[in-house]
Amino acid sequence: MSTPAPLLEISGLRLETGSPQAPVRIVDEVDLAVRPGEVLGLVGESGSGKSLTMRSVLGLLPGGVRATAGRVRWAGEDLLDASEARLREVRGGEVGMVFQDPAQALDPLMRVGDHIVETLRLHDRRLSRREARSRAVDGLAAVGVPDPERRARQYPHEFSGGMKQRAMIAVALANRPRLVIADEPTTALDVTIQAQVLDLLRTARDDLGTAVVLITHDLGLVAEIADRVAVMYAGGVVEVGPAQTLFDDPQHPYTRGLLASRPHLAARGAALPAIGGQPPLPAGRPAGCAFHPRCPLALDVCRTQVPVLQLRGTAHEAACHLPAPEGAHR
Ligand code: SF4
Repeated sequence: MSTPAPLLEISGLRLETGSPQAPVRIVDEVDLAVRPGEVLGLVGESGSGKSLTMRSVLGLLPGGVRATAGRVRWAGEDLLDASEARLREVRGGEVGMVFQDPAQALDPLMRVGDHIVETLRLHDRRLSRREARSRAVDGLAAVGVPDPERRARQYPHEFSGGMKQRAMIAVALANRPRLVIADEPTTALDVTIQAQVLDLLRTARDDLGTAVVLITHDLGLVAEIADRVAVMYAGGVVEVGPAQTLFDDPQHPYTRGLLASRPHLAARGAALPAIGGQPPLPAGRPAGCAFHPRCPLALDVCRTQVPVLQLRGTAHEAACHLPAPEGAHR
């Protein structure tokens, strides 16, 4: 069976801040693809550029950050060139969004059900209020909100953290989007609710064929749900591949370090070195491999030459000057 064409394809993306005369690169040369019905885990420490990369897809970059190179193709259309009107259609219609903080998505002055009603009617003006209300109640029920008729009339402050997150997922899924971007959707939640939120995303994938990009610093979460994983460090993708392959046979020292903090996820966890130090700020990135000051395996060449992604196995790539570790699938 042939692999379906990507739904979302980011290529050569560069994001900069600062003045045009003295730009600071936050994200550079990022390539990512998401296929229909696929869950991509986008992993990295805070500040690695993973959220900004996905925000660029939706035209939601914060003030002062701009895309200066690359393309973001959505079902074949370049979104970096899209008008604000077109981006509004994409956001909440074709692409749903779930954030860590429901306050970003739920207006405290609006009833929870009305968030779904508004999203539905924004993308289908022929839909009556009554029909939209009924679909909002169905949407809340589908994400496991008990007593959805009554809950739809309540305000966000009447919902617990976990219930707010469910409501946000109901808003994100209201228009049956082809892709959901979930940015640290479970970070503020306890373990039980985390599992429930993952279940909801999994159900959307299985029942509706929704693709998901799960942005997280938590490899454990990714191991639960992702089909493929991309690891970002200091604004670039350093490793990408099928989830199982990447966990069983990590190729980049940074990925190996991340797995060392979750040894049960790594096939050879005991042998993996943990990572010391902090990632660099965008304005202070070292020459060569940005990871070299923290890398226990750095070579001389790592201080001067930027490694590029190279195949390390079937559909598995890593950006590192080291040869593949012994035992790697090649
Ligand atoms: Fe370490 Fe060098 Fe590989 Fe960078 S390129 S991860 S410094 S070995």
